This record gives sequence, structure tokens and C-alpha cells, in this order.
Amino acid sequence: MSFRFQIEATDGLARAGRLYTPHGEVETPVFMPVGTVGTVKGVPQHTLEELGVQILLNNTYHLYLRPGVETVRQLGGVQKFMAWDRPILTDSGGFQVFSLSDLRKVTEEGVSFRSHLDGSLHFFSPENAIAAEIGLGADIIMAFDECTEYPADRARAQASMEMTLRWAQRSKEYFEAHKEEVPWFEDRHSPFAMRHSPETTPPRQTKPEWGAQGSGVEEEKQVLRSPRRPQDDNIDLRMELSGEERMANGEWRTTPPRQRMAEWGTRIEPGQTQALFGIVQGGTYPDLRRESAERTVEIGFPGYAIGGLSVGEPRAMTYEMVNAAMPHLPADKPRYLMGVGTPEEIVQYVAQGVDMMDCVLPTRAARHGLLFTSEGRLTIKNARYAKDEGPLDPSCNCCVCGRYSRAYLRHLYASNELLAQVLNTVHNLAYYLDTMRRVRQAIKAGEFAHFLSDVRPPQLSVP
Ligand SMILES: [Zn+2]
Repeated sequence: MSFRFQIEATDGLARAGRLYTPHGEVETPVFMPVGTVGTVKGVPQHTLEELGVQILLNNTYHLYLRPGVETVRQLGGVQKFMAWDRPILTDSGGFQVFSLSDLRKVTEEGVSFRSHLDGSLHFFSPENAIAAEIGLGADIIMAFDECTEYPADRARAQASMEMTLRWAQRSKEYFEAHKEEVPWFEDRHSPFAMRHSPETTPPRQTKPEWGAQGSGVEEEKQVLRSPRRPQDDNIDLRMELSGEERMANGEWRTTPPRQRMAEWGTRIEPGQTQALFGIVQGGTYPDLRRESAERTVEIGFPGYAIGGLSVGEPRAMTYEMVNAAMPHLPADKPRYLMGVGTPEEIVQYVAQGVDMMDCVLPTRAARHGLLFTSEGRLTIKNARYAKDEGPLDPSCNCCVCGRYSRAYLRHLYASNELLAQVLNTVHNLAYYLDTMRRVRQAIKAGEFAHFLSDVRPPQLSVP
């Protein structure tokens, strides 16, 4: 099976679960860092691994314009291209078309728009947006939708919702007809491709047992590629963090990252495909949100997103719209709230039953010197930190807080050093990821209500 979602614990409406995707597992609730053009700005992939990032978001609009879908497809998909062997989600490009590009024209067929890079003219329809997402090859892809602007009157929100529903149907039909075209299985451009040419690759065995004793090299390879035992968390964690793998004799080896990339095509079971999620719209009208949710579910997807929020509406309204849609999304499918939020807000959304979120806030704020800490927000350029020897956040275990002082970080920022952006981003991501880890632990321990009561009330405006 290509994609599956399993709920492991619930506490109130909050759920802790696990997504199974072709490129690995993702523990939920999850915050997905945004890697717009195939990079989380300023942070190398090995650092993202060390932070424990399990899934990234890439923007189809940006990768479509540069370097182009065909380039990424020929290089084996976006995971290989960016040397990231964990799951990736791509949006459909709809949001960027509506927020970034000029001179867009929306018709039933699709959206024509001008590139924000060079003014060139382009066209996205549900069909060619899904074609782009298949070519990029993320594990989870999104239906092409119209992100209804805020404010929008009821007639406008309803018409927009109806078109998103028609586009969802077209997205699904195109996906079902073309899902086999995902580029995961093409290794020919890899320097390691010879290892896996048909002449040298042994026939696949089905589901070898972990730790099976074997003397031959090929048997050992099969053991290394066998499914991880979910109950063995320590081995799992070590493998996640370091890229090490345990050999059949119990010793550890580190596979060079480029070789790891090259081996993916042989790790993914032939026939596996991406998962296409539907998107709920409906503006700021609870009954439209409900109707959009019900009718998107009728079309049928393995996961559902709530879109068109965090686009300028008051935060209380965001909560209201999430509440309006949530009861009408199936409990056994993942629910993804797009484009939110602050650390306090993402905890509240989990309390409403959200499983997945993404936002540029931690990374964008970091580049502007705004840091999220257990003691509240901190603006690093503030003169009061000039001689502050303490860490950014005394409660944070990240590599930045473990090493550098506020004084040094302030100096880097004031000097406009590149390293300031890197270190600030690493800390903010660590803070978000740690928040989600604690949320997940609290849900599994049945202590989420208590955890929530300790979280300072979410601010009703974006900082
Ligand atoms: Zn930190």
C-alpha cells in the first residue's frame, strides 16, 4: 500500500498517529517546515535530519518556474534532487498563483498568470498542476484549488468553493489516470546506478525479516532494506538521526548520503504511488465550510486539507472555520490545516483534531531576528542582549542553544552575517518540532488537557 494513516492515541479531539508514505513514516501531529524552492532557507538537509524533521513541504509553483518540473523529473524527483530521503509534500501551486503572481485570470479551465521571476506567461489547470506534482514526485500532493481571498462576500465564497469542488474532481481524475508516471524508479542518472542495473540487481525478496541471519552479501543487503521494526524505537531513532544502518552482524555502518539517495529507487516497492489530498474551501462561512468538507469527502481522498485560512482573517475566525469543517472530515483520514501558525496556535489546532500543519512563520521570522522560546518571543537585535551570555532559550536542547550566547547571536544579526539567519532558523525549527513532540507525548499519555492549560493563550493576531 502506498499511503496509510494509523491513529495510535486520542485525547479529546486530539490525535496522535502515524503516516506511512513511500519515503518513510511521519509521526503526527506534525509540523512541516517549508522548503519553498527545494530548500528550507539557510538550513542544510543533514541539519534538518539532526533536528528530527520527518517531512518537508515544497512549493510546486516555485519549482515549476525554476528549475522546472522536467529537470526535477529527469533527476529522479524532488527527493533525489534535493538529497532528502524522507517524505515530502507539495502544494498544488494554487496558493502562490493567487498570492505572488501578477495579472492572473481565472476561468473554469484554470488560471493564467505571469511569473513573479521574469513576467513570462503560464497556465495552471487542475490537470497540468497535478502533472507538475507527479513530475516532482513528492509523497503527498494536493488537489488544485482556488484559495478564496479574504474578505469575500458569500456569493463569491460559494462560487469559488463550487469551482474548487469541480477542480478537485478533475484533479483526482487526472491523478488516477497518470499516477504511475511518478519518477521514483529511474536511477539512470545516478553515479551509483550500475549497482542496481538489471544485470547486477538480485531479484527482490518479499518482506525479509529484520535481523534474519544470512552469510551472503546479497542477503545482508536485503536485511538492511527490510522494514524497520516499529517497536524498536532506539534503533529507529539512531537510523533516523545519523543515516546509519545496522548490519546483520549487529555492527553499524554509515551509508554515504549520495549512495543512500541512489538506493531509494530499489527501496520503494514497484507500483507505489503518491497520495492526493483534497482541499476544503468555503471562505469564512461555517455552512460553506461544512458543505465543502462533505462534498470533498464524497469525491474521496486519502487525506483532507483545510485551505484558504490564515489569509488575513481574524484568528478567532480561523478557529471557527476549522471547527466548522472538522466534524465532517472522516476520523480515520489525516487532516491538514494549511499555512498555520504560531507555536501557541498549532497546539490549539491539534486540540481541534488537526494532524498536519505547515507555515513559513518559524523560518521567515528567524530570518528577521524573531525567535520563539519557552519564555515567549525574543527579538535578537534588541540592545539588551548585547552582553547577554545566556542561551537563546534555557529550556531548548537544540545545537544553537547548546553552544552560542544571545550576545553572539545579536552580534551576528547586527552584522548582517549569513550565520545569523542559519542559527536563528535552526533554533525556531527546533522549538516548533519540540513543541510537537511534547504535544504528541501528552496525547499518548492522556495528559493533553493538562498540557494545553500550561500553554499561554494563543495570540489572536500574527506577530
Ligand atoms: Zn534552541
